[in-house]
Parts: sequence; structure tokens; C-alpha cells
Amino acid sequence: METQINSPWNRMMDQMKAWARINSPWAIHFNSGSCNGCDIEILATLTPRYDLERFGVKLQGSPRHSDVLICTGPVTRQARERLLRIYEQMPEPKFVVAVGSCGLSGGAFQGCYNVIGSIDEVIPVDAYIPGCPPRPEAIIDGVVKLLSSLKPGAAGAQPASNGKGMA
Ligand code: SF4
Repeated sequence: METQINSPWNRMMDQMKAWARINSPWAIHFNSGSCNGCDIEILATLTPRYDLERFGVKLQGSPRHSDVLICTGPVTRQARERLLRIYEQMPEPKFVVAVGSCGLSGGAFQGCYNVIGSIDEVIPVDAYIPGCPPRPEAIIDGVVKLLSSLKPGAAGAQPASNGKGMA
């Protein structure tokens, strides 16, 4: 069993990792069954007009290099395995942001034969951004709150090594 030595060096490394994680999170976007309305708002959030990158957030193509999974839509039966696979491929610590009413509850697609339900019925969710679709300002607010909750000492902050934060 691996033991963690609480030396000044380890504490400094943990602080550096937390600082880097908060100031430069890499995000991957996945549509688990959305109508694309929420996805268009996420893309707008990344444009120079709203400029999510000013908070250090960079859109990333590979789950293996991503800290944050931004997920839209209800989870369909077809997308469930893919969502799980993407989540499992992300390194720890990882965070999930559910965007839109459908991701939070199934929304307009609740009860459809091909829909399982909300995202948190399949994977753990750290931040919920309601709206149909949520505006870019709301998406930015949710992501910034999630990042703020990761600051050491913040409510919901978790150990830098392998914890999960809650926005
Ligand atoms: S919340 Fe609205 S915009 Fe987003 S996927 Fe559902 S129906 Fe579409």
C-alpha cells in the first residue's frame, strides 16, 4: 500500500498542482443525447465574445488529457457506454459539469423509450448548470464556481491528490 509522506516538499507539490488545476483546467465536451441547443451555447462560450479561455479553460479532444467533462443532454441508451468510457479514461482528479435541464433531469426527453435519464444516474456530477439551454454567462458562472470550490480551504475543496470537488 502506498503511503503519503506529509513533507514540506509534498505539501508544496500539492499546492502547485491545485494552483495549476484551478488556473488551467482542460475540458472535454460530450453530447450524451442533447438536441444540440446546449452544445451551441457551449461553443458560443468558447468564442472570443464570451471567452471562457480567459479563465484558463482549454477545450481538449482526448479524455486522457482532460480534467473536466462538460456534458449535455439526457443520457440515451446508445450514449451510456460511451459516456462511461470517456469518464473512465480521464485521469484523477476529474470533474463533471452537467449543462442544461436535460442533463440535470432528463428534461424534455424524460420517459422516452431510448433515454436512461440524467447524467448523474450514470456518472458522478460535480456542477449542475440549469437552463434550456443555459446562456453562455450561466455556463461560465458554473465553471468558475466549480474551479473556485477547488481552491484549498474553499467549501467543498478536496485533497489535491485524488479528491473530487463539488460546485
Ligand atoms: S436543455 Fe434544452 S437545449 Fe439543452 S438539450 Fe435539453 S432541450 Fe436541448
